[in-house]
This record gives sequence, structure tokens and C-alpha cells, in this order.
Amino acid sequence: MDATASELRKELGELLRRAAEVSVELDRAEGAAVGVPHYSAIEARAHELGRELSRRIQARRMGDLAAATSAAACPTCGDRCEPRRRRRRLASIDGPLEIDEPAAHCPRCRRGFFPPPGGAGPRRP
Ligand SMILES: [Zn+2]
Repeated sequence: MDATASELRKELGELLRRAAEVSVELDRAEGAAVGVPHYSAIEARAHELGRELSRRIQARRMGDLAAATSAAACPTCGDRCEPRRRRRRLASIDGPLEIDEPAAHCPRCRRGFFPPPGGAGPRRP
């Protein structure tokens, strides 16, 4: 693990520790953590925070992929088409979220397609 990865892992650990503290403080402030709760209630609340983090990571990663996608070859005719970012709702195993995904439209073929990240391949003859 290089220095950057080590620093990022340390920062992530600190952010997760702080997120756990804030989550507990928020539950107390909202009156959701009064008395002696059953452990399943504590676990369910913690799990929901984990699911929210998962959805945010998924949205971020998909946004990064959409931003990194450049012109793509139409799978039918091979013409280069510029992708645009398209907002889409999806159902992940951690709940619904909105992502940005690259989408392209070929005017010649009058069809849309999802270009792969990385750019266009060669035009077909
Ligand atoms: Zn085409």
C-alpha cells in the first residue's frame, strides 16, 4: 500500500468513526434513541446508514464513469457519437438511487446506446 492509499485509508477510518458518532447523536436528538432499545433496533439503524453510504458510493462511481466516457462508435454503423450524461433511477440491493450514466444517440441509425467508458473504437468500414 503506497502512502496515498495509506493516508486515504486512515482518512476513511476517521470519517467512518465520526459518521458513527454523528448518527448516534442524531438518533438521540430526534428522540430515536431513548431508553434501552432492543439490539435489533440499533443494528437496523446502523444498517440503514451503511445502505445510504453504499448508495452514495454507487452514485459517485457511476458519475465518474459517465464523466470519463468520450465519443463512442455506434454498435450498428460505427459512426462516432458524442455521449451525454443521462440521469436514471435504479433499484440497488441497498435501495433506490439516481445515477448519471453515459448515453449516446446515433442520428443515422436513430437508436440510442450505452457507450463503454474509454472512448470510441475504430469506425467500421
Ligand atoms: Zn449508427
